[in-house]
Amino acid sequence: MPILLGAIADDYTGASDLANTLTKNGLRTVQTVGIPDPSLALPEVDAVVVSLKIRSVAADEAIAAAGKAERWLRDRAAAHVLYKICSTFDSTDQGNIGPVTESLAQAAVGSPVLVTPAFPETGRTVYFGHLFVNGQPLNESPLKDHPLNPMHDANLVRVMARQSRGRVGLVDLATVSAGASAVRARLEALGADGVTTVIADAVFERDLETLGEVALGTPVSTGASGLGLGLARALVRSGRAVMPTGTSDAQPVGGLAACVAGSCSVATLKQIEVAERSMPVLRLDTERLLAGSDEVSAAIAWAGERIAAGPVIVAASSAPDVVSRLQTLYGSEASGHAIETATATIASELVARGVKRLVVAGGETSGATVDRLAIPAFLIGREIAPGVPVLRTVGNAQGDMLLALKSGNFGGEDFFAAALEMMH
Ligand code: ADP
Repeated sequence: MPILLGAIADDYTGASDLANTLTKNGLRTVQTVGIPDPSLALPEVDAVVVSLKIRSVAADEAIAAAGKAERWLRDRAAAHVLYKICSTFDSTDQGNIGPVTESLAQAAVGSPVLVTPAFPETGRTVYFGHLFVNGQPLNESPLKDHPLNPMHDANLVRVMARQSRGRVGLVDLATVSAGASAVRARLEALGADGVTTVIADAVFERDLETLGEVALGTPVSTGASGLGLGLARALVRSGRAVMPTGTSDAQPVGGLAACVAGSCSVATLKQIEVAERSMPVLRLDTERLLAGSDEVSAAIAWAGERIAAGPVIVAASSAPDVVSRLQTLYGSEASGHAIETATATIASELVARGVKRLVVAGGETSGATVDRLAIPAFLIGREIAPGVPVLRTVGNAQGDMLLALKSGNFGGEDFFAAALEMMH
């Protein structure tokens, strides 16, 4: 079956956010981890989000990776490809939003490419080409101090022009409010004037619905999850995608269940404390771990003795005083990396012992675990908590698994039990 919508995400968490947004707005969506192997067999889906890590790499490297991902998507007949960027337009004057957009736009002969990072649900709006983050112009928002991509200009027409070869134009809010035909007419006029890329204003979701409808008639667009929402709704409204009924015909995966936590966020620490009342929790001694003691084998043995009886949690997560002591002793990167390696090893050993349902708390912790398990792709399922869906593996060598990958601060106090309750 052809893919209705293809997406190339410039980082992994952005990809998950988009995949979740597309699913919530009616598209059956798979998220791949990297560019998939040509042999990856897809279930029946409407959208595929290819997750890359190209936000801050050299522009030619980003172009090459995005081009490869695009070919994979077009080979599966994706009629439209969204280049998914951050809703705060994270980039430098060298790119990569401009260079990647322009290279993908080679498919869009004569029609300027629509670009908008607007996502009103998270406070990102664009007005006269200026990006506002929770009401503050981008250059006055916390993004002005971003360690990798400090954003000093809220005028995205200018920002985009600095990283593009072609001319950049604007489709303003009045035009977007006037509807899809008005936007198409404006694009045509700008295209005739030699403009190759346009920043499109959007303040409300209905603006993104209009832009999604227009973008669908073109081969390529660039935007955040907000434009994904617009594209998904346009596909559902046009009848090309059929909103799933909510009942899933997916087979239960069965098997054992376990949780691994590496997030030290306030929310995760509380969630572990609450879970401890209903399931066994092993708190890793991270100080001994970093000092060289084999805490990993001990944890695997501890969990191995208990998982047949029910889910367990292994947590590296610690209170701020322990974390800062370790960071002072070993450096934050080295201690974080060593602990991620430990939690990923524990997770993969538990999978080798029959765990098929795995909950992971922590963004980096999840990334390290998914890499270790070499999972090629996920089908996005129901939401456990805002931003945290149940994920079903696609093309996994060890057979189907269900995962929940939670960013530190996400989820309610009973998150672990709530997640396991939804994972069968
Ligand atoms: P979050 O989503 O909350 O940011 P992450 O998993 O992205 O969580 O980041 C948490 C980081 O803290 C990881 O690198 C993890 O390995 C590290 N970490 C976990 N436990 C400890 C600890 N006890 N001391 C220091 N660092 C830790």
